[in-house]
Formats: sequence, structure tokens, C-alpha cells
Amino acid sequence: MIMGQKGVPALIHVLIVEDEKPIADLIRLSLTKEGFCCTCAQDGAQAADLLERNTYDLILLDVMLPEVDGFELMEYIRPLEIPVIFLTAKGALADRVKGLRLGAEDYIVKPFEVVELLARVDVVLRRYQKRDAVLEVGGLRIDTGSMQVWRDGEEISLTKTEYELLLLFARNPRRAMYRETIYERVWGGDYPFGSKAVDLHVQRLRRKVGWENQLKAVNKVGYRLEVGL
Ligand code: CA
Repeated sequence: MIMGQKGVPALIHVLIVEDEKPIADLIRLSLTKEGFCCTCAQDGAQAADLLERNTYDLILLDVMLPEVDGFELMEYIRPLEIPVIFLTAKGALADRVKGLRLGAEDYIVKPFEVVELLARVDVVLRRYQKRDAVLEVGGLRIDTGSMQVWRDGEEISLTKTEYELLLLFARNPRRAMYRETIYERVWGGDYPFGSKAVDLHVQRLRRKVGWENQLKAVNKVGYRLEVGL
């Protein structure tokens, strides 16, 4: 597990779509320092490719991008239900309004201060319950501070890996997740040994937390947690 300086597990994955490298680097470094896991895309096409294969908790999206711009990419992102914060140039009020109309959660005006970026990221993630201390999902109560899990008031004992797997599904309900993504997010690094580790841990997790009917296999993809809205 990759840990940030503040000891926050790198379970929250942010996609940064920005063609200006110094800005992308600044964002990546600032968020990594806070314990987030970051991936950068330099243009809309690269971002669309990444979105096809991976699951993200938040997207920071520059408006002015070569070829496919941020607004066009937003049309593609919206059905994925991933919160988006637009990065817009100073003074471009029309851009901000358009971004919010397209469904963005917020916008940040460039140039920006890192503290402002972090504050806005935090607010959006809280709105989407990504940073909630206590999650209630699929009949479970998960306290991410104490890393404890309960069902009907009874505590369930999980290994660290099982807990991280649980948290990944709990934070991304109703979303099909590729085995590769699950592996990268829970174990970290590349995907060297095929699907065995993921499958074994999912089976064990299902039994332990009582998600036999909820944690469904998705053919040729991986798994999806089916819970009500
Ligand atoms: Ca740009």
C-alpha cells in the first residue's frame, strides 16, 4: 500500500487531465503528498483510454486541451458518475458556467494556490462520500478511521488486504471493476500473476461480510458490487 505523508492510504485515485506539464506536475505532487494516488493524461484521447480501463474517484479536467477539449470529454465522463472539477483559465466566466451546466462539481481558476485545490478536492470527495469516516453500504458499517467493519452490530474481522478490497467496492458501488484495476488499487503495482489473487480474495471477502449475492462477477471484466441507491 502506498502511504501519503499524512498516512492516508492511497485508495482514492485521481485522474488529472492537463496538457501543461508544470501544472499537471504541481497537482500530482500536491495530491500525492496528501496520500492520493494520481494518474496524469495529457489530452482527451489519452484520458478516454484510461477511463475505459480504470476506475477513478475524481477527475481534475482542464478545459483547453488539444483535439478533444474538456467539455467534449465531459460528455463522455458524465455517464460514468465520476465527480469532475474543471480547471479553467483566469477570467473565463463562460467556461465556468458551461462546466457546471455540463455536470461538473466545481471549478478551479488557474493559476491557483495548492491549498485551494486541496480544499475543493476535499469538499467534492466528501459530497460523494469518498472521504467519509463511516460508510454504510450493503448492510455493513465501515469505520475508515478505526478500520473496523460491522454487520448487524457484530464486528467482522478482516485482514488488511480484505479490508482494502472491501473499501474499494464500498466506495465504488454499482461500478464494474476490472481485475487489473482491483489488483493495482489493492495490491499496488502491475498485474503480474493473472486473476488468481483477486478471485481468491473476493471469494473470501464475500463469505466473511455476507456479500454472496451482492458482489457479482462481471463476465470477462471482474466484479461489481450491487447495492441499492
Ligand atoms: Ca490546457
